[in-house]
Amino acid sequence: MIKFLDLHKINNRFRDAFQTAFSKSLDDAHFILGKNVTKFENEFAAYCGTKYCVGTANGLDALTLILKGYIHLGKLEKGDKVVVPANTFIATILSILHAELVPVLVEPNTETYNISTDIDKAILVEAKAIIMVHLYGQLADVESFNTIAKDYNCLLIEDAAQAHGAVTNSKTKTPISDINGNNYPIANKAGSLSHAAAFSFYPSKNLGALGDGGAVTTNDSELVEVLRLLRNYGSEVKYTNKIIGFNSRLDDMQAAFLGIKLKSLDKDNQRRREIAKAYLNGIHNSKLKLPYYNGSENHVFYAFVIEVADRDHFINFLDHNKIEWLIHYPIPPHQQRALQSFSHFNFALTEKIHKRIISLPMSPVLTDNEIQTVIDVLNTY
Ligand SMILES: *Cc1c(COP(=O)(O)O)cnc(C)c1O
Repeated sequence: MIKFLDLHKINNRFRDAFQTAFSKSLDDAHFILGKNVTKFENEFAAYCGTKYCVGTANGLDALTLILKGYIHLGKLEKGDKVVVPANTFIATILSILHAELVPVLVEPNTETYNISTDIDKAILVEAKAIIMVHLYGQLADVESFNTIAKDYNCLLIEDAAQAHGAVTNSKTKTPISDINGNNYPIANKAGSLSHAAAFSFYPSKNLGALGDGGAVTTNDSELVEVLRLLRNYGSEVKYTNKIIGFNSRLDDMQAAFLGIKLKSLDKDNQRRREIAKAYLNGIHNSKLKLPYYNGSENHVFYAFVIEVADRDHFINFLDHNKIEWLIHYPIPPHQQRALQSFSHFNFALTEKIHKRIISLPMSPVLTDNEIQTVIDVLNTY
């Protein structure tokens, strides 16, 4: 059996370091917002190339708190429209609803699966924010969206939950300005390519914890101040509450584990790209549409997503050949019961993609033999 994602194998590489960190946490007994959170926040901000990082309980909260933070700062208002790709993981859309904003779904580019830059002018004129999701680990068209956000005076937010470590290949490295007009020339990694970015450290992500975790990265000091309050009951000083907050803190022990894994992230992403290249070079089958990849570091292959016309048939074939698979995602958000109020919309491209996509095994611990087996098996389909 070739596993889709062997979480045991992935994490077992760090067992000794995890156990040392666990013992230290147990001894220090500072479980909530302790030194490990601050240390990881500093390291992750430096990694992404932003001034700040604020740990949160998970990725959905990271997104929601960014939006709530902007509402608190008066940069967004309840009812404002937020553009979001229709084919994203539902969490992106849920965050907009939780913040009492209005999601405006738009179709993806069918080559990259990322949000299309070809958006109706009427939509952009009304939009107050755009969330670009770096879907499957590939950066969205960051340069175009920075221009669009400037032209239409929108906040630009990244959902980078699948793209830890992805690097833009933009030569110009457009300076990203924060909402106060300050420019930051360093932007080249996911998390630094917009006004604020949300990450998830859900165990299956490229940088995954041993439980839930999330973070916001940004250069915006005002937003950071609000986020630190929002995640902790609106409180900076214990039992003094400045605003109506939540409880959404990155767990201190998870922060210690994440700090250990962060050191291997670039190497792991490089291995994912190697595997992707092996699949792309090795799989030759006209029944399977392989993903677009430009060969650069702008893709960290959270998922290797292919398309097939008769998916049920292909699934039987994979099961028979003992190759695990997953679908990211089987039902588009607007057709979920939870989002019934969106069910009258037609998103033909999104719906077509959701019927045809399937993800192949992808993780830094796949062996060369396993990769070759996947290739050989798929070539006989
Ligand atoms: C995983 C994920 C999230 C949500 O992260 P959680 O930590 O599970 O809350 C949001 N957006 C995308 C694109 C994701 O893949």
